[in-house]
Amino acid sequence: MINRNPCIANIKAGYLFPEIARRRREYAASHPDAKIISLGVGNTTEPILPHIDQGLIEGARKLATVEGYSGYQDEGLLELREKISAVFYNGKFTADEVFISDGAKCDIGRIQLLFGAGTPVAVQDPSYPVYVDGSVLIGAAGGWTGEGYSGITYLPCTAENSYFPDLSKLPENCLFYFCSPNNPTGAVANSEQLAALVAAALKKGIIIVFDAAYAEYIRDAALPKTIFDIEGSRKCAIEVNSFSKPAGFTGVRLGWTVVPLELKYAGGESVNKDWNRITGTIFNGASNIAQAGGLAALDSDGLKEIRRLSDFYLGNAKLIRNALNTLGVLCVGGDNSPYIWARFPGRDSWDVFAEILEKCQVVTTPGSGFGPAGNSFIRFSAFGHRADVEEACSRLGRLSF
Ligand code: PLP
Repeated sequence: MINRNPCIANIKAGYLFPEIARRRREYAASHPDAKIISLGVGNTTEPILPHIDQGLIEGARKLATVEGYSGYQDEGLLELREKISAVFYNGKFTADEVFISDGAKCDIGRIQLLFGAGTPVAVQDPSYPVYVDGSVLIGAAGGWTGEGYSGITYLPCTAENSYFPDLSKLPENCLFYFCSPNNPTGAVANSEQLAALVAAALKKGIIIVFDAAYAEYIRDAALPKTIFDIEGSRKCAIEVNSFSKPAGFTGVRLGWTVVPLELKYAGGESVNKDWNRITGTIFNGASNIAQAGGLAALDSDGLKEIRRLSDFYLGNAKLIRNALNTLGVLCVGGDNSPYIWARFPGRDSWDVFAEILEKCQVVTTPGSGFGPAGNSFIRFSAFGHRADVEEACSRLGRLSF
């Protein structure tokens, strides 16, 4: 018999969302009449808007014609790569630096193939789970210590530091996952903070994996939507991004990764060249239908629909924030991001989760699932139908803290 990959054994049992689903099922089984509402997951709920949908339909139709048929497009359709550079980066990148993916999460999982097991990893704490779980799977981190995974540097992002980490704690020559707008805290790093991050990365030989999956939720014009607004970032950053949350493509699957030509390893080799090699080797490109939808999303009508959809979820976020403020719960996020990060000092996240489920039949996400510094927090997600969010907000009134 073949042995199990020991890295898999290192992954902590009960990935956060399956564990939440298990507790929800358990509650539903013992309360069959309860109408449970989820403000827990980051999955989108609203239909794809008509112009973008038309792009998908036409993409499918084209495939059934001799002139329009296309097969493998390893790095993605040239037109889409150019459009992404034009729309999101003022045309600063050539098509060779923009790689189309089947989603940001998939690319985050593949990125560590560039660096292997020997590269130390640092994360914001709390953080989106795939950064650490992906590191464990590739062997860059070891087993669960009870506080976190061994070998990973957790940089706490708490109310005390305004959810921006102490960069002096970054190890030299590490891979640093940084997410802004942040999942789960909803915090958005400003230009000064990102400039400090880039300066620290250049000084310490760090590569930043900048996750901008929620950039289209930023409404404050002074806040940067991309790390590439910061001088020097082309020498130290990779950016992953996605159509999932702005265009409702969570089920369609489309994202992109920017790997600048200037980004080099310690030995001077090109990271971009290796990424091209990796995507060509283990990934045969995103669906051409999804890419046609992506092109429609980036023309002027599509961008209006992106705005409309993200405005809708931000409207939900405002309702949730107001409901929590009325209860006297301190929270951040929800203004430039679809997540609200609520503080329950001195309490265990899973206990608060259980209390909200029991008293309100509302599912949330315990902050401790995102890292040690997430304990005593709950993440509320604004992805939901309006009527459900309104009902959930009124039920939150049953709580008293
Ligand atoms: N990055 C962050 C921070 C996310 O929260 C998510 C999804 O919830 C993703 C990436 C995944 O994006 P995609 O659907 O493109 O894989």
